[in-house]
Amino acid sequence: MAVLIFAESDSGFYKKSTFEAISYGRKLADQLGTTCIAISIGNKGTENLGSFGAHQEVLYVNELYQTFNPQSYAKAISQTAQQLDCNVIIISQTYTGKSIAPLLAIKQNASIATGVIGMANTIDGFTVKTTAFSNKAIAHVKLNQEQKILTIIPNSYQINTYSETSEIINLEDTIAASDINSTVLSTHKETGKIPLTEAELVISGGRGLKGTENWNLVEELASALGAATACSKPVSDMEWRPHSEHVGQTGITIKPNLYIAAGISGAIQHLAGVSGSKVICVINTDPEAPFFKAADYGIVGDALEVLPRLTRRILEIKK
Ligand SMILES: Cc1cc2nc3c(=O)[nH]c(=O)nc-3n(C[C@H](O)[C@H](O)[C@H](O)COP(=O)(O)OP(=O)(O)OC[C@H]3O[C@@H](n4cnc5c(N)ncnc54)[C@H](O)[C@@H]3O)c2cc1C
Repeated sequence: MAVLIFAESDSGFYKKSTFEAISYGRKLADQLGTTCIAISIGNKGTENLGSFGAHQEVLYVNELYQTFNPQSYAKAISQTAQQLDCNVIIISQTYTGKSIAPLLAIKQNASIATGVIGMANTIDGFTVKTTAFSNKAIAHVKLNQEQKILTIIPNSYQINTYSETSEIINLEDTIAASDINSTVLSTHKETGKIPLTEAELVISGGRGLKGTENWNLVEELASALGAATACSKPVSDMEWRPHSEHVGQTGITIKPNLYIAAGISGAIQHLAGVSGSKVICVINTDPEAPFFKAADYGIVGDALEVLPRLTRRILEIKK
């Protein structure tokens, strides 16, 4: 019985959410009195995962893993879980993680909890806290099967560090081309942008920004803060911004440390995707805008004036 964590990386760098997942896995392993094992597939980052709590690391570099395919990755994680007797598997709830977890749950005949935001309670059974109803409620989910899979929302668990080095384990890899039913022929990757789901800081714009000609104000503040950019649904529907930036009930759910919303009214469907943010700052000309009720900080003012003032001030402080 051990805890297995999928260590997701991109172009030779582990994602921050991987360190969070490993820290979570180590805490859980300590709680259960067992081993914390990290698995890297296709490639790995440079860090030794022992620094984040992994006792052991498994790496698969077979060429079948070079292009991401949820089937081959689920197979690799499943075979590792079986060979190393792991009964809890932890995956970050990133795009990659979300596509692997359900396949893995079927392979392992496992109980699965998605949207996990708190450490598992293992005193009486195995229960985790998850978000529910588009972030409007919290659910306590009991996992009854022997095999358990948790997907952890990025930015939900702090990174812990250890003065340890993990042991590298070599396992037999039984993956074959015949295990994969579909092949990804090509992928188009956005470069130089912070992925929204993993961003700690997000600057978002709504219809109050008036048009694409003002979006540089959002981008300049984002660049000054090292933040990702997002938008409301009408903004992406009008093609002012790409759909990949649309947050809310029908868009992406995010949980940054700081969410700055400029010219967004705060409709319930928008809040559904952002209310998990640790701190919300709203800029709106209308003091009655509903978003102010959900805000930690509110600025009643014209976003076209407030955004550049904030950017200037931040750049001054950073000098
Ligand atoms: C089924 C369904 C699903 C939906 N899913 C989503 C979703 O996932 N995400 C989402 O965002 N919406 C979603 N919506 C739409 C949602 O209901 C709202 O219509 C939308 O969020 C409003 O976008 P907005 O705040 O940008 O625009 P508006 O509602 O037009 O608000 C603009 C705001 O900007 C303010 N403003 C105007 N000028 C300025 C200025 N110069 N400076 C500062 N503030 C200014 C105004 O006071 C106003 O509060 C959904 C709706 C439905 C029915």
